[in-house]
Amino acid sequence: MKPLQQLLRPNILALKPYSSARDEYTGEEGVFLDANENPYNAPYNRYPDPHQRRLKRRIAAFKGCESDQLFLGNGSDEPIDLLFRAFCRPGTDNVVAIDPTYGMYQVAAATNDIKVQQVLLTKDFQLDVEAVLAAVDEQTKIIWLCSPNNPTGNCLRNEDIERVITGFEGLVVVDEAYIDFAPGRSLLPRLQEFPNLVILQTFSKAWGMAGLRLGMAFAQPAIIEVLSRIKYPYNLNVLTQQKAMDLLEKNQQEVAKWIEVLLAERSALAQELQKLPFVNLIHPSDANFLLIRTPDAKAVYQHLISQKIIIRDRSSVSLCAGCLRITVGSPEENKQLIQALQAYK
Ligand SMILES: *Cc1c(COP(=O)(O)O)cnc(C)c1O
Repeated sequence: MKPLQQLLRPNILALKPYSSARDEYTGEEGVFLDANENPYNAPYNRYPDPHQRRLKRRIAAFKGCESDQLFLGNGSDEPIDLLFRAFCRPGTDNVVAIDPTYGMYQVAAATNDIKVQQVLLTKDFQLDVEAVLAAVDEQTKIIWLCSPNNPTGNCLRNEDIERVITGFEGLVVVDEAYIDFAPGRSLLPRLQEFPNLVILQTFSKAWGMAGLRLGMAFAQPAIIEVLSRIKYPYNLNVLTQQKAMDLLEKNQQEVAKWIEVLLAERSALAQELQKLPFVNLIHPSDANFLLIRTPDAKAVYQHLISQKIIIRDRSSVSLCAGCLRITVGSPEENKQLIQALQAYK
């Protein structure tokens, strides 16, 4: 890996973070007359902990890492944007990303005036390691990978990901938003081995907290420190921090049960979909959704809309001609989906 000073934008390297009242005094008890808060309307009157110390300790313990290897953001969207802002000089630097993949990398890149060199996956939606590494040039700062990938649903092979990580001198981001549905596949236990690895995870999927907006980035402490330095000081509000603490305590067993149900439903749904004459292919999934191929994706999509069932038309995405993406729902929702599909044509 290149030294961090060489990878970072010079202005970010020089930046002094905003120092809030809560930075200068960190005790929890006392008469707080330092932040121009209103003394009334507790507990919403107080600014949240800008460093999210309690929540970070809790999540780090749960994930088996150190607090200083963890960044918490307003969804994964926040660390995605911050990584561009910290490392990529607008109009000059570029990143490499796989295609097809999650659309937010492209949006965050465009917002920051960064070019994305897209590299097609193979026909079975795996990494073309040589092509990914060949797309790198002097100005490439980040390679974006996603495993399990969206919208394809499959995990990339870890040995391929590892070859990308070790074959590149900049950062490699592996978005593991769906990793709770693919037990044993996370690279997180191996974070220490790879100084240029950034792993993204989220509470939006298996944990059922998309509305709370809580995403995680894991990396070596020096990278985490940079992201923390440039984030909005109070990026996680009081309610999100409190509620996440709460759900982490109470819901662990329930989350495990949800995952078990959703994985069983995914197989059942695949079996039922297989029986439909207009479903040509169901791509293998390591996530909580299925990508299916049909001769007329738009017609199937419109038919389901008419039945008030909303899925995602991915037919215009690279390598996904004719493809629809279907989230695995509750048993009742999945039954409604299958009934609606059986009534198609
Ligand atoms: C859903 C999803 C996310 C989650 O984003 P949040 O901002 O954490 O809700 C991240 N990456 C991928 C690939 C996703 O599909």
